[in-house]
Amino acid sequence: MKCRACTKKAVIKLPSHNSAFCPECFDRFVLSQVGRAIDEHKMIAPDDHVLVAVSGGKDSLALWEILTRLGYKTTGFHLDLGIGDYSRESRGHVESFASRHQLPLVVESLREEVDGSVTDIARATRRPACSGCGLSKRYFFNRTALRTGASVLATGHNLDDEASRLFGNLLHWHDEYLAKNRPDLPAIEGLSKKVKPLVRLTEKEMASYAFLRKIPYVLKECPHSVDAKQLLYKKLLNEVEMASPGTKHAFLFGFLERIDRFYPDSETPDPEGAFLSPDGRCERCGEISWTPVCSFCRLKERVREELARNGEKEPRPT
Ligand code: AMP
Ligand code: ZN
Repeated sequence: MKCRACTKKAVIKLPSHNSAFCPECFDRFVLSQVGRAIDEHKMIAPDDHVLVAVSGGKDSLALWEILTRLGYKTTGFHLDLGIGDYSRESRGHVESFASRHQLPLVVESLREEVDGSVTDIARATRRPACSGCGLSKRYFFNRTALRTGASVLATGHNLDDEASRLFGNLLHWHDEYLAKNRPDLPAIEGLSKKVKPLVRLTEKEMASYAFLRKIPYVLKECPHSVDAKQLLYKKLLNEVEMASPGTKHAFLFGFLERIDRFYPDSETPDPEGAFLSPDGRCERCGEISWTPVCSFCRLKERVREELARNGEKEPRPT
């Protein structure tokens, strides 16, 4: 198998692009796909300061590396979720990446802020751990972007993440989520601009990139993240992709071409679709809020009540 670009020996086959690449040409391919996503969706301007949300996984660490290589000014942000070895390893990878590349990094701890563990959050909200965790991440990402003066927040969601999310939202016609199923959400007062520059690259392509660039990342899965439905949607889309290469890409980008027609307000970044509180700020923490007390402050209160009800002073281990 020869590289499509230079005829050297190919190491990676990309049926969806009807291509195969050697390591150097694959590297150029990845950088050009990220550059194209950034240009087409006007994600990042040359003078932007990008806050990169880095989990310690392959996608977000590779994203941070790519944005740095493309010459953007970046700061990393990691939220330590306090989930045993998984969080210790994730944080370790993020911190060593930052020091190896001499890049600024902000780390915050969920347990310190909430006064409880992810398990306490799940018990207090009576919802799966992932839902309180997702709410907390959105809150910290936005707050840190505003505090650090970053003009854009970038996450490592890839094509598989975005296509499977679209698939799930379409199956249930979740209009409010479909309207936000885009890789770029503009800023409004109090809410930072959000972008997903890896949207043109698959999970497999990102794993190959991290391997070829020798980027160490956490291999453990989060013990709470068994989102069975999301995994099923990814599996189904991969089966269709095998039979008909390029379908995943056509599915997501076909939707994005039509999103403004289907959802004319899709650029309004109102995550809850509700009303803004009187001054648009949470009366406890001062962050943007659609209700007088924001959902993160309400979550903290529920965890405190739950711990008090059970007579527990210490958060439960996760
Ligand atoms: P996930 O929701 O775990 O699929 O992660 C999606 C993206 O959110 C990742 O690619 C990261 O950019 C970001 N992210 C997830 N977890 C964290 C974390 N603990 N700290 C910082 N960023 C995160
Ligand atoms: Zn608040």
